[in-house]
Amino acid sequence: MSKKVRVRFAPSPTGGLHLGGVRTVLFNYLFAKQNGGDFIVRIEDTDQTRFVDGAEDYIFKTLEWCGMVPDESPLHGGPFAPYRQSERKANYRKFADQLVADGFAYYAFDTTADLEAMRTEYKTPENPSPQYNHSLREKMRNSISLSAQEVTNLLAAGTPHVVRIKMPLNDTVSFNDMIRGEVSFNTAQVDDKVLLKADGMPTYHLAVVVDDYQMQITHAFRGEEWLPSAPVHLLLWKYLGWEAEMPQWAHLPLILKPDGNGKLSKRDGDRLGFPVFAMDWTDSKTNETTVGFKEHGFLPAAFVNLLAMLGWNDGSDQEIFTMQELIAKFSMDRVHKGGAKFDYEKAKWFNHEWIKKTPVAELVDHIKILFAQKNIAISNNDLLAKVIELVKDRCTVLPDFISQSSFFFEMPATVDIAAVKPKWDDKKNMFFTELIRAYELSNQWESHDLEREFKELSAANDLKPGELMLPLRIMLVGGKFGPGVFDIAALIGKEDTCKRIKDFLSLMQHS
Ligand code: GLU
Repeated sequence: MSKKVRVRFAPSPTGGLHLGGVRTVLFNYLFAKQNGGDFIVRIEDTDQTRFVDGAEDYIFKTLEWCGMVPDESPLHGGPFAPYRQSERKANYRKFADQLVADGFAYYAFDTTADLEAMRTEYKTPENPSPQYNHSLREKMRNSISLSAQEVTNLLAAGTPHVVRIKMPLNDTVSFNDMIRGEVSFNTAQVDDKVLLKADGMPTYHLAVVVDDYQMQITHAFRGEEWLPSAPVHLLLWKYLGWEAEMPQWAHLPLILKPDGNGKLSKRDGDRLGFPVFAMDWTDSKTNETTVGFKEHGFLPAAFVNLLAMLGWNDGSDQEIFTMQELIAKFSMDRVHKGGAKFDYEKAKWFNHEWIKKTPVAELVDHIKILFAQKNIAISNNDLLAKVIELVKDRCTVLPDFISQSSFFFEMPATVDIAAVKPKWDDKKNMFFTELIRAYELSNQWESHDLEREFKELSAANDLKPGELMLPLRIMLVGGKFGPGVFDIAALIGKEDTCKRIKDFLSLMQHS
């Protein structure tokens, strides 16, 4: 029987989640759900110097907003708790010691000053940043270069030390990446990474292997930036005797700028709102708070959809997918090896498609909140639903609903008189005065009734309806935009329609 699929997203709580990180979550999530497996979130917080307060909370809120709820996590619990590496600290030392005992790792007693001296002393034009590796390890203070007695004494005296992996001199380690196929590394190129720090905390390298093993992870999907670490991890799986249990790896391609020129940077991200939503903290360097996709008015379903399409497709032209469809159709072998270009205009296209596709009832709450933020209280949900139906095809991001429809709920803030004035004359003035009367007497208030009356009256006055429609729109809306003008009048009602026409006429008189 094959093992139950268990995948993990293993973020370090060092800041907000950006596109690449959330896409990693999504691919993990889709794979888990497709295979009836478990989706685990493990917080990799062993590097306390990079810890950002609030970041973990942010990660969970993001996942919730996207609809990707973990099966196991520090928040949701689970059989392999704790899921925060800092809380698993006591667990790692024995594996580091085991590696030393088996000759795969060693204790290193070098001080910061020793390390700095090494970097200066062995610096050459060919090797500007010397690494702690096979060529230098014998020259440093560690359990390889020192005698057994010295090492015992140093350890007995409680001398601060780290544990380093002893990278083999000239070995090839290979694995089969689910996206890239066979990937090989020469071990000589990798330095002797620290596995356990002087404070007893493991580094990422040791912790990720121990935890993936103990949490019975079957597949590990992570960003391409982790590919250079893979040889260290592969060797650790082997050295700890767990090779048969090693998860299958997939390293996801980078996300590139729209022109494909380079990796999408944090700066591009901040400019375009790439974090999923605003962070509760300000950037310590720029002192700026960032807004994200949520604040820019993206729907979660659209965001998930556009993320999935960053580097994946189902082999057809289909671009709009629900989460359920993605779960059914996702496959790792259709993820491209090359970087995926992120284009903000295309992202907005996805959102527009999703706004059109989303039932009005589901949009009502989102839009009501936006109006409330603008101090426009909406008491009539039926009216709001009708308005949303009328304008949704014109809205690309949610705040567009405000600009496209606030005039339904309050008088237009400004009225573009200049757009009407050049062609305004007494005849038109007369027409609208009569229109007010006709509308006031009208006992039918449907869009087609209003249009019929409007056209009959314009014919009687020998005016072209086409020339009168723009002024009517400006009167009701304030500017040259919005859905069908009689649809607007029908929704704002008799009283408001007549009032807006009257106000406009008096404004014209005094302008
Ligand atoms: N803690 C790593 C990160 O922050 C996890 C990498 C991995 O998934 O192995 O991305």
